Amino acid sequence: MRLLNFNCIFPSCSFKRNEIEEEEFLKHLNEEHHKDMLDISKKENMSIKSVEMITVSNSTVFINSG
Ligand SMILES: [Zn+2]
Repeated sequence: MRLLNFNCIFPSCSFKRNEIEEEEFLKHLNEEHHKDMLDISKKENMSIKSVEMITVSNSTVFINSG
């Protein structure tokens, strides 16, 4: 399982974790930001799944390991 660093993109949130599974961050999103994501999905006319994917992608901190 690939471990990633996440820095939650929602401004009101201070969630920041290193070396966790994507699943763990998804759990955080669904527990803490379900309503935020729902609002975005309505506003942007996207599925909540798409909003979730974009949020995960934008919250991932990529580190060059080389
Ligand atoms: Zn968060």
